[in-house]
Amino acid sequence: MEKTACPILNTHKRLIEIHRLWHQCLDNYFDPEGFRTNLNATIQALRNLTFALQNEKNAIPEFDDWYSQWQQKMGDDEILSWLNKSRVKIVHQKDLETKSIARVEIKSYLDIANLEIELPPFIPSEIIGSECVSLLSKKYPNNKIKECYAVIERRWTEAKLPNWELLDALAYGFKFLSNIVVEAHEKANCQSVTCTLGDSLHTLTEEEIVTGDYSCMNTQQEIRSSTITLSDFATVSFDYKEVKFKEDIAKKAVKRYKINNQFNRYEMGLLEYSEKVNDIAKKVLLKDKYHRQIFMLHSPSRKWEIIDAEVENQTSKFMLMSELAKLVKKNEVDAIIHISEAWLTQDIDAVANGTAVSETDDRREALCVSIIGKNNIGKSYTTFFKRGLLGKIILSETEISDNLGELNYLNPIRRIWTGN
Ligand SMILES: [Zn+2]
Ligand SMILES: [Zn+2]
Repeated sequence: MEKTACPILNTHKRLIEIHRLWHQCLDNYFDPEGFRTNLNATIQALRNLTFALQNEKNAIPEFDDWYSQWQQKMGDDEILSWLNKSRVKIVHQKDLETKSIARVEIKSYLDIANLEIELPPFIPSEIIGSECVSLLSKKYPNNKIKECYAVIERRWTEAKLPNWELLDALAYGFKFLSNIVVEAHEKANCQSVTCTLGDSLHTLTEEEIVTGDYSCMNTQQEIRSSTITLSDFATVSFDYKEVKFKEDIAKKAVKRYKINNQFNRYEMGLLEYSEKVNDIAKKVLLKDKYHRQIFMLHSPSRKWEIIDAEVENQTSKFMLMSELAKLVKKNEVDAIIHISEAWLTQDIDAVANGTAVSETDDRREALCVSIIGKNNIGKSYTTFFKRGLLGKIILSETEISDNLGELNYLNPIRRIWTGN
């Protein structure tokens, strides 16, 4: 691509400076002094860009008419006005009224609580977690609280702009001024993508340069956020992977598990297919002595997708379900088959008092296959089994039920379908 000399060198340099300063704000997010210093510098740099542009007005034809329209827009804009007032405050050596808060969402398969706590950004998540536990203990039994997880988002805000996170506000200001700079280049017969002055901080796509919408500024929320369990305050994550259907693997499976493959899963009704899945799952359990947790997601356009998701505990299961609910929404999934091994009990009192199902006296192991779908499709296949000599699996008769009301962990998915 042919490069063109920058017509507004000083202005363009200021824009590159703001991008760099914005990153420094992010890098110092958990250090209050470092954050304040870089915040002030970024706000001043944003303003300096408009001064530089006015000094380079000769490079831009019909500057006054063109720029007065932008000035109008800036005056009408909430964030730009806030940036302007903040800069006046900073040059008069006054500090902005910044506040560091932690926004906490506590979840299990339900949204339990949303909290906002003001505290320094360097306070570790464990302390926030224990604060949450003591708050919840007034309302919930301990064993329920321990299954929950907390999504903690750190935020810097300012008194005059309380609903905006400050990195977002600065990114907004950056994008706004970047649009002016891009337009100024065009007016001066230069495209900003071919301008000799480039940003060397990191690679930028052409689209990012033209729109001012930088992906680094859009993904920073993840850096400010963490998810911890309320049982031990450890950071939790979980893994799931989509299993791609491969002809050779399928052939091996048919042989290994002695599956009758004379059926076409794409043509069967959902319930008919779930019955088939239950039959296959029983064969897998008999042969392998265990069955991994599998979710099968059906959507009219994508047909069946298989998700292999082993989870460590109840908490990661809740997180997984909330992730799956997002997939259900995105891919317009209309039915899900869930296959897992589980401990089941009739002793509801013991469970309510915090005993794990696998520790109850009457516990029984079962292979569970459930299908739920839009329009109240729902069926579960429960096959109790015992482990005999050398782990040999002895299956009972499968019990079929239409009542899935008790499967609470499916609630995040149900909510997508019912729209609440
Ligand atoms: Zn330039
Ligand atoms: Zn960047």
